[in-house]
Amino acid sequence: MEHHDFDSPETLAVHAGVGKYERLPVVPPIYQTSTFAFADADEGAALFAGRQQGYIYSRMGNPTVQALENAVAALEGGLGALACASGMAAIHTALMAMLKQGDHVVCSDAVYGPTCSLIETLLSRYGIEATLVDTSDTQAVAAALRPNTKVVYIETPGNPTLVISDLGAICRLAHAHGALVIVDNTFMSPILQQPFRWGADIVVHSLTKFLNGHADVVGGIIVVKSQEQYAHLRKVLNHFGGVLPPFESFLVHRGIKTLALRMRRHCENAQRVAEYLEQHPAVAWVRYPGLKSHPQYDVGEKQMLGPGGIVSFELHGGLEAGRKMMNAVRLCALAVSLGGVESLIQHPASMTHASMGPEARLRAHITDGLVRISVGIENVDDIIADLDQALTTGTAVTTYNAGVHA
Ligand SMILES: *Cc1c(COP(=O)(O)O)cnc(C)c1O
Repeated sequence: MEHHDFDSPETLAVHAGVGKYERLPVVPPIYQTSTFAFADADEGAALFAGRQQGYIYSRMGNPTVQALENAVAALEGGLGALACASGMAAIHTALMAMLKQGDHVVCSDAVYGPTCSLIETLLSRYGIEATLVDTSDTQAVAAALRPNTKVVYIETPGNPTLVISDLGAICRLAHAHGALVIVDNTFMSPILQQPFRWGADIVVHSLTKFLNGHADVVGGIIVVKSQEQYAHLRKVLNHFGGVLPPFESFLVHRGIKTLALRMRRHCENAQRVAEYLEQHPAVAWVRYPGLKSHPQYDVGEKQMLGPGGIVSFELHGGLEAGRKMMNAVRLCALAVSLGGVESLIQHPASMTHASMGPEARLRAHITDGLVRISVGIENVDDIIADLDQALTTGTAVTTYNAGVHA
């Protein structure tokens, strides 16, 4: 028989990071330990000097964490990965590791709120300049590049407006300029988008979202393509210290086994929800990469393997209509975060993107009536029925007969 690599995303999601099964537990155990004993003084010395591979101390590496890191690296097509205490820890660690005083970073203007304020307000304290641009406009990225631009930071689809940036075009542009491209792939997961295929240098994720998928862990990960970057980032992470603990790693790794199935269902459900909303008279417009009305639909078709589980829309009634709708949902939970099995609904202007301030929000096209739904894997007819009653009545109904969100 021909050699077969067993490297399809569905198979990797179940098996990657686990290793061969012979005489091993099918599920990697939770190594709930801070430290690892050396056989003798020579082994301790060899491990510290890097002459021997092995575990020393859990901030520097732990088998349960390593199994998760190997799984995500395999799914992204990377060489290695570094699990961090949160998505923000991963983003912060990656940026600080790749930038230094005097450098400049070009960043998507539609990014996760705290990423935007990290780049705009915190990095500047260390002499790192930033320009926020609409990265769905490749020409705007070209125009923002400066001689000292070292990193182009992209989130696509962007949060929460779901604008799509052309990864291939931006990577070519950045590389010709000598800059690295870091992509936040949280909204897609490696099942729906693999930024390395388009030339990205580093991929970051909030593991909290689709990768874990069960809304019970906060975590993040940095995925790299080169041994050199891995070694550098491992050292920086070891010094910054924001590592993911073994138990959280175990849970995320467990979540990943159903990632391919979950992503397929998220896409199917979100497509139906987006189509439903698009024809609703109370809705001014809907943004969803699976709708032909999406301004970058063609770019999405090229680089994404599915439109994802997030739908954003604007209500005709603006802020007040948004508030009313959110008080009227009965199945969808009014909560930030996304990518879990349960549907969540939220209002970016007053919640996730409040820290950006009104000017930055306007620049990122976050209007007052914008509502974002993370469409879960429930029966889609139930999700649509909930949105329908919430849009129709717009009045506060707080009792849900299954008692879920009472
Ligand atoms: C949630 C999120 C983050 C931050 O992740 P945390 O785990 O909450 O720190 C970063 N980027 C995107 C796109 C996110 O959705």
